[in-house]
Amino acid sequence: MPIANAPLTLPAGMRSTRASQAVLALFAARPDAVVSEADVERSLQAQGIAVNRVTVYRLLNKLHAAGLLQRSVDADRIARYMPSGADAGGQAPRFECDGCHQQFRLAGHQARLQTALRALRQELQAAGHEELRLDLAVRGRCAGCVQTPDAMHAAS
Ligand SMILES: [Zn+2]
Repeated sequence: MPIANAPLTLPAGMRSTRASQAVLALFAARPDAVVSEADVERSLQAQGIAVNRVTVYRLLNKLHAAGLLQRSVDADRIARYMPSGADAGGQAPRFECDGCHQQFRLAGHQARLQTALRALRQELQAAGHEELRLDLAVRGRCAGCVQTPDAMHAAS
């Protein structure tokens, strides 16, 4: 099933600014990315857009409230955002790179992943466990870091 990524548009009532457009463009360009406020702030500043933490948080919160972005909070209490449309099934496992600390959603073989997750869930249910919430995180070294050892590859 192809993933249809509808272009993100600003929700009604949200002012179109250079910063808000840049945030939308960022998620449109990297639909599999899972980014923190700091990542967004860095990306915007790299484009010459002067923003501060409060502005970026406000933008991300509005997009999250409008349902355009999903939010997850990791073990270090860092909130990360990802486009809502990309995985209709929810619960996409995340992969975090030990080298550059970028997070990616595991994409590609969604059907196979969902089958595996369902099997895991059924296994737990068969053992009598209930109210299961899956939150899978995988760690390792991303393809970018493997190709350029010792070099931090910047999120462009
Ligand atoms: Zn990496």
